[in-house]
Amino acid sequence: MAKVIVNRHGVEAVRRGHPWIFRPATGQVSSRTSRGLDAGIVTIVSEQGDAVGCGVYDPDSPIAVRVWGIGQDARLDADVFADRLTRAIALRRELFADGATTAYRVLNGEGDRAPGFVIDRYGHVAVLRIDGDAARAVAPILLRDVEKILRDAGITTLLERTAKRNERGADEAKTISVRFGEEPKPIRVTEHGVPFMVDVLRGQKTGAFLDQRENRRRIGELVARRKRAGLGVRVLNLFSYTGGFSQRAALAGAIVTSVDVAAKAHGTAQESFKLAGIDPSPHSFVSADAFAWLAEQKKKGNRWDVVISDPPSFAPSERAKPNAISAYRSLHRACADVLAPGGTFAAASCSSHISAEELLTTLDDIALGRSDLRLVELFGPPPDHPSLPAFPEGRYLKLALLA
Ligand code: SAH
Repeated sequence: MAKVIVNRHGVEAVRRGHPWIFRPATGQVSSRTSRGLDAGIVTIVSEQGDAVGCGVYDPDSPIAVRVWGIGQDARLDADVFADRLTRAIALRRELFADGATTAYRVLNGEGDRAPGFVIDRYGHVAVLRIDGDAARAVAPILLRDVEKILRDAGITTLLERTAKRNERGADEAKTISVRFGEEPKPIRVTEHGVPFMVDVLRGQKTGAFLDQRENRRRIGELVARRKRAGLGVRVLNLFSYTGGFSQRAALAGAIVTSVDVAAKAHGTAQESFKLAGIDPSPHSFVSADAFAWLAEQKKKGNRWDVVISDPPSFAPSERAKPNAISAYRSLHRACADVLAPGGTFAAASCSSHISAEELLTTLDDIALGRSDLRLVELFGPPPDHPSLPAFPEGRYLKLALLA
């Protein structure tokens, strides 16, 4: 098998369980071809010549190797993939045993020790996303038993979503192909028993932002508590997409304003309101740029009791971080400007390059221009998005509740 030699720092990271070896940590690569090493399964070797693990080599990515196994006996084949997927399914079986949630992440890439492979489930339909050309190159070997394993878990259709990212990390184009089963129509799924619609063929990501499930529930609970305490429940949901947060807030008795540039998402949101037995007509669905719209609301003196902000990632790369930090600061300032006294501000970030502590620097008194808010709770990703202790990038989702 081809070998990649990795320096001391790389070896140390691999042993701690970090799943990525960046290119500068790699030295010589050996292969049978003279063109250099192609994408494929490799043995990771220390500078002293010891085999320390195995992984998938990518000649074109800054992440030179995605690590699959540690130790000199580590190997990577269809059996290893099957084992990781089976363990991933077992965890979800336990997490969602009550049957109230039918949309969740089945396999979370590096977090489930299956780097580059993500599977989201919407009822009987699953969507596979393979990250990068190297993972795609080894997929025919690794995915041998996937159909059988997923069918055994009750999945009757597997789609594969291939996204082309632009340099800002946003999806530019995506194609969906059917790996097995039939092409699905929009699907009705539930989160904690609350139904909503997902369009896996046309929606963003694999159809929904599953990672915010527990936070959507928390917002519903927050509104219910405020209602019981006789406090105001005007809710502003910024970057609302298909209205997950809005729906939970409305179910708990809030009047909700949802804002998103994607006008079509509001249609799905209203459909989901109706599915949950909520009449959408008292609620507002605004198609606008959140930044410009917030500035107008401030001028008009409009205020909300709960403001939720869940923007797309502002930091697609480490280089983009300073700009991202200032974008979060100005967004958070604009949110604080329309938050009524005694209100709660829920600020989320899904940038893997921004840590929870860094996010909090965009929510301090200077950033918000007010000194009455306290950090009440700080949440990370949900349990169907596990991460590895040595891999902070996996804990990309943060939600800070300030009141
Ligand atoms: N909170 C949502 C997920 C939000 S994803 C949920 O729980 O499902 C981020 C959303 O921000 C996307 O729907 C995208 O259309 C929207 N968006 C991106 N830029 C925007 C902008 N400048 N103003 C308003 N919405 C924007």
